[in-house]
Amino acid sequence: MARVGFIGLGNMGGGMAANLAKAGHEVRAFDLSEGALAKAEERGCKRAGSAAEAVADAEAVVTMLPAGKHVREVYESSVIGHAPKSAILMDCSTIDVTTAREEIARAASQGYAMVDAPVSGGIAAAEGGTLTFMVGGEAEAFARARAFLELMGKAVIHAGGPGSGQAAKICNNMLLGASMIATCETFVLAQKLGLDPQTFFDISSQASGQCWSMTSYCPVPGVGPTTPADRDYEGGFAAALMLKDLRLAMEAAQSVDSYTPMGANAEELYTRFAEKLGGAGKDFSGIIRMIDDSWTSPRSSS
Ligand code: NAD
Repeated sequence: MARVGFIGLGNMGGGMAANLAKAGHEVRAFDLSEGALAKAEERGCKRAGSAAEAVADAEAVVTMLPAGKHVREVYESSVIGHAPKSAILMDCSTIDVTTAREEIARAASQGYAMVDAPVSGGIAAAEGGTLTFMVGGEAEAFARARAFLELMGKAVIHAGGPGSGQAAKICNNMLLGASMIATCETFVLAQKLGLDPQTFFDISSQASGQCWSMTSYCPVPGVGPTTPADRDYEGGFAAALMLKDLRLAMEAAQSVDSYTPMGANAEELYTRFAEKLGGAGKDFSGIIRMIDDSWTSPRSSS
């Protein structure tokens, strides 16, 4: 069993660190939040006094932080030069492709092997150890990271070289955001044309319009499997996080001069829903309420 330094014990990192501890690893955990640290301790992790202390003599390091600037700050101030060079470094946060590539290159220049390994799956998947990891990095680094990532997920996929995990993640979520909006506006139109939503689901889920946003995550309450729509759009994947990922996708698209009109529209619509109409904390499928003009706002409905 290995010594693992784990930094970032929030909604996602808390469950992931606990799963590594449950598998028998010695997890030295650090977070700026005292509450998060105390909870990790209760769940089998050892408390570290700082990020640098968490990674000192670690064989593996996992970070699960909010955004690129946090990742850069933590790696440059507390990981590189503090963890042993033999440690495999895994950043599981969702961050911009450019920062991921720069940090992996900086780590490599100091003799470290590092991968970007963002996840698909929300808080329940982090708790249950059923995340999907999309990993970017050299083949050898991937092979070393895999042994740890497998303890926190159901699938660990090598996406390509450094930054490819982040590229796969934002491309997937750009498709998801756009397909969710298309699903929402389709159901609203179907209803206005007099179709029963369940009947339309039964037809379209077996016809060429079928997609994950409809069949696995239907935004209409009472239709299809149980989803956040059946809980007033609580829980699930917050619209604020979808917006974060769409912004990362648009930034990446611009950097390679890729034409992404549907992604741009999705970003604009989620900005309106999350930031102007107060839907940030709602599940991203809650955007159907913005598209349905009988809707008021998440604030006034809760
Ligand atoms: P979170 O805000 O709940 O957790 C982040 C944690 O990092 C916090 O506890 C914070 O205190 C800690 N932190 C910030 N700066 C730190 C520092 N310098 N040193 C130590 N700790 C620090 O966020 P989350 O929901 O757990 O998400 C983490 C990452 O996973 C994000 O990049 C997010 O986009 C991604 N993600 C989230 C979900 C989800 O459903 N929540 C799903 C997929 C991916």
